[in-house]
Amino acid sequence: MGKADLDEKSTEGAPRGRDFIREIIDADLQAGRHTQVVTRFPPEPNGFLHIGHAKSICLNFGLAAEYGGRCHLRFDDTNPTKEDVLYERSIAEDIAWLGFDWGEHRYHASDYFERLHDYAVELVEKGLAYVCSQTLEEMREARGTVTEAGRPSPDRDRPVEESLDLFRRMRAGEFPDGALTLRAKIDMANANMKMRDPALYRIRHAAHHRAGDAWCIYPMYDFAHCLSDSIEGITHSICTLEFENNRELYDWILDNVEIPLPRPHQYEFARLNLTHTVMSKRKLLRLVEEELVAGWDDPRMPTIAGLRRRGVRPSAIRAFADMIGVAKANSMVDLEKLEYCIRDDLNRAAPRRMAVLRPLKVVLTDYPEEKTERFDCPDFPPDALEEGATSTSREVPFGRELYIERDDFQETPEKGYKRLAPGREVRLRHAYLVTCQEVVRGEDGEIAELRCTHDPASRGGKAPDGRKVMGTIHWVSARDALSLEARLYDRLFLPERPDAAEGEFEDHLDPDSLKTLTALAEPSLKDLPPGGHVQLERQGYFFADPADSAAGRPVLNRTVTLKDSWGRKDAPAGKPAPRRPAAEAAAPALRKVSEAARELAAADGLDEAVAEALCATEGRLALYRAALEAGASRETAGKWIANVLVAQMDEAGAEALPFDGAAFAELCALLDAGTITATAGKEVLLEMVGGGGRPEAIVEARGLARVADGDALASLVSEVLAEHPDELERYRAGKKNLLGFFLGMAMKKSGGAADPGALRAALQEALDS
Ligand code: ATP
Ligand code: MG
Repeated sequence: MGKADLDEKSTEGAPRGRDFIREIIDADLQAGRHTQVVTRFPPEPNGFLHIGHAKSICLNFGLAAEYGGRCHLRFDDTNPTKEDVLYERSIAEDIAWLGFDWGEHRYHASDYFERLHDYAVELVEKGLAYVCSQTLEEMREARGTVTEAGRPSPDRDRPVEESLDLFRRMRAGEFPDGALTLRAKIDMANANMKMRDPALYRIRHAAHHRAGDAWCIYPMYDFAHCLSDSIEGITHSICTLEFENNRELYDWILDNVEIPLPRPHQYEFARLNLTHTVMSKRKLLRLVEEELVAGWDDPRMPTIAGLRRRGVRPSAIRAFADMIGVAKANSMVDLEKLEYCIRDDLNRAAPRRMAVLRPLKVVLTDYPEEKTERFDCPDFPPDALEEGATSTSREVPFGRELYIERDDFQETPEKGYKRLAPGREVRLRHAYLVTCQEVVRGEDGEIAELRCTHDPASRGGKAPDGRKVMGTIHWVSARDALSLEARLYDRLFLPERPDAAEGEFEDHLDPDSLKTLTALAEPSLKDLPPGGHVQLERQGYFFADPADSAAGRPVLNRTVTLKDSWGRKDAPAGKPAPRRPAAEAAAPALRKVSEAARELAAADGLDEAVAEALCATEGRLALYRAALEAGASRETAGKWIANVLVAQMDEAGAEALPFDGAAFAELCALLDAGTITATAGKEVLLEMVGGGGRPEAIVEARGLARVADGDALASLVSEVLAEHPDELERYRAGKKNLLGFFLGMAMKKSGGAADPGALRAALQEALDS
């Protein structure tokens, strides 16, 4: 997806309503094929569960709950050498924490070893299975290829009696590992390779963590799974798409032994893949074993235990599973979607607090030395409350000496910077308007403190004369500050697809994925219990680490930042980068749409997600109406307010924007006329948000008009290629996916003004010439 071109960003995800699995179940119930729905979640106890498993858990347990059926927890413990009771414990704990209950239906495939063995004997007796002496290597070699039939094993026509005898002796331990296998006798020329006499049992002289030394033959997955489903009365056996080819074998086995009703059926859905993470247990195990993370529950891990320790609540994970839905095509889900669900969930749950992560001292020279005030600060802003509810509050002490965030002051403010600077007035949240009078430097030449004055008439943070200040910042009273350890967690991997990136996946870990700081917090944070959630205003949601927090001194894990600030990381210095469209923009489409939004969507021909975002506050709606009044098109005005502007505004919201509907309409017109690209439009909007100004003038001043002229693009492209000779060489050596890299670099160089289609064409031409 072209990240640069917001217009292409679809509100993808499952359409609400019935997915294909629910349709199948509805039809089964209607036709009387089943009277009850029984599903199962079948983890192999060889690692911790991850967010991908959570998708499957929410689906299986969710279906059971929806249809008044039941869902079994079945440990698929057919492989004796890789499994561990420790993993079983963590798996059960994680599922329960997610909010699901298997009741008394906790099973193990190993519970069925005796019955599975009997089914195997039944197949042999029917002439449908035989004991084979080929080695693994020989078997693999004789299996053929997708275009070529396999060759039958020399033992294929072994008499039934002989196979029965050998199978009995396999069980009795007379043969070493690998000497013999039991194979189904199906069809060595079958188009489906899984049907070419697959192995059903192998010899493994290994102790099993539950069955002990009782067995030295173990059933293969394909044999054990369908029969375990049947034994438990599973109706809908739901697994991921990799098992599509196994379904034929699943059915063949159930067709050829005597099983009770109901007969289970297998259905496949797309597994979850998430950007910036890896999701295979094998790889996660490697991270743990190589000590690249602090354990399975490291808050950066995509494991359920990791997410829990990071401060994610189960309701957020369930909402995420709901949002992504169930589909039949594999896809990559943006991590932002998960982050959106986490924020949305914590917004109403985590009370607001103030803490400074990178402190800068402020002295209010006109505030009496001994004086202390206490401000009553609400725990929640109005929009995070249920309708009609009022917020609880806490008292926050204030004094002459304060700390503010180092980032909230710039001595020479860059363009668009709205916070404190020499001579500038800002609001200290809930307290006073203050003006910076003097910058004091330490001996090292660094800024040591700021000397400011305050306006006593602005007590509570309200401007007495209604004057506007540029921004609102948080603060902590120096005398009362509580110092705390804060751990800032970020994404574990830098690239979107660490699995697909060059080299080993471990090479792509983000070295900055954990930063530990000493924060200074308002004193009420000493009452935050281990496992408690807060929102540190303007910083993110934080969680008191359950293991490392002490009484009165929580250790704070950052669960998630407040907005998607990722785009800022590689922003050129001195200029705030346009934020990527926040997940907030797309997500409301997947939530319940309010009546007002539905009406607006219908009346104005808008996308429901857009209408929902517009209706979220009066200010947005007013801006939209004013823009239409001034001639903007509905579609562009709606989309740009909902998808772009919302991500760039601060908490003051649309009411406080320094431009009006007419200016916004002008921007819409530039976009609609194609005068500027979407990327350039975002630059313009960012500048408007920062300091007002008319879009046409900004475009003119910054040279942001769309560049589609062939010569201009060609010279841009040749500059970019010249700057990246290594990449060029690799591209020409066959690494064609570097096209995206060059596109990004060229787009950046043009300040987002290049026409994406024309740029791609120019680039392609230059690369392939
Ligand atoms: P991994 O590939 O990470 O080792 P697995 O599939 O081998 O995982 P199991 O313990 O066998 O792990 O998985 C239990 C269930 O969870 C299976 O039904 C499997 O299909 C499902 N599952 C595993 N990974 C995902 C995923 N990424 N998305 C959805 N379901 C998944
Ligand atoms: Mg598996």
